[in-house]
Amino acid sequence: MICVLTGGTGGAKFVDGLRQIIPAEQITIIVNTGDDLLWWGLYVSPDIDSITYALSGLLSRERGWGVKGDTFLCLQAMKQLGEPIWFHTGDRDLAVHLLRSRLLAEGKTLSEATATICQKLGVKARILPMSDSRVETRVDTPSGEFSFEEYFVQRWYQDPVNAVRFAGASDAEPAPGVIDALASADAVLIAPSNPITSIGPILSVPGIREALRGARGKIAAVSPIVGNAPVAGPAGILMAAQGLPCSIAGIAKSYEDFLDILICDTVDARAAEALRKSGLRVQCTQTIMRSAEDRAALARTVLSFACGGLLRDQPASTDSLPEDPDEAACSASEQP
Ligand code: GDP
Repeated sequence: MICVLTGGTGGAKFVDGLRQIIPAEQITIIVNTGDDLLWWGLYVSPDIDSITYALSGLLSRERGWGVKGDTFLCLQAMKQLGEPIWFHTGDRDLAVHLLRSRLLAEGKTLSEATATICQKLGVKARILPMSDSRVETRVDTPSGEFSFEEYFVQRWYQDPVNAVRFAGASDAEPAPGVIDALASADAVLIAPSNPITSIGPILSVPGIREALRGARGKIAAVSPIVGNAPVAGPAGILMAAQGLPCSIAGIAKSYEDFLDILICDTVDARAAEALRKSGLRVQCTQTIMRSAEDRAALARTVLSFACGGLLRDQPASTDSLPEDPDEAACSASEQP
């Protein structure tokens, strides 16, 4: 079994690559829930939704979030009613939020609600929230403290950032199955996700960092920083706020207590050479995922670095998802 730690955008592309090359049943994905929010009274879990949509073939590649081909009639109606509309949710997307909210109101945990939604959408990989307790990423800026979605989507990540904290983390527990998955995985892969606000919240849950340190499989991370800049989004600003350089060295530093292999882009070959002197295994490959082929190629390369010959005889994935017709025209795009 391969375990992946991920956020929603870079991570969704990476897990889509993985499910193309190994059976989805052999993938366990531990997902950030620090961005979760109550929106129009509904419980929204943006990263779980992106991963679920990626694995069920529903993800809009054009936007990088939400359901492809979705309509926004409810959003327009809410605007007419004078309700806030800065967080865009499509109509089909809303159906998932409605179902999750009903399940939670009936007393189900977030893990149970996630499993139900995955089963209904035909997702065969196991998607686990990092925790069933509420852990909220809070971004401190000179204009005040904001939730991650307020900072990122409502305010377009324009504020200078003083610090990031994970409210509720010290009282949280890993969701059922998380620690077992980390302990028993043949390899643990850290997706090219924001190290501060996607992987950071997962690592803030007590017990997860320790489980990574004790994992029996190799731990490999794909850098979301390419050529000293994030491929998209605020990772660079947030890393600087945490005292980390926006570079592959900053990514290595974020995971230094458990990382075995850092996988970075070929444009960072010189920085990789310098980093190897610290004793870390660093591998360079093409990490920009523009097409389904790019995603599969990166996943295959990462698996070969992390597992060596272990996966040589794996059959191809049993899932075959319809390709997005807009694929060729699409590239990474993050909300907003
Ligand atoms: P979020 O929850 O939506 O922020 O999703 P993630 O944290 O999973 O993804 C955001 C990160 O993915 C950003 O830091 C990007 O730099 C990185 N990213 C997005 N697309 C790519 C890609 O094609 N290759 C690499 N190496 N990184 C990417």
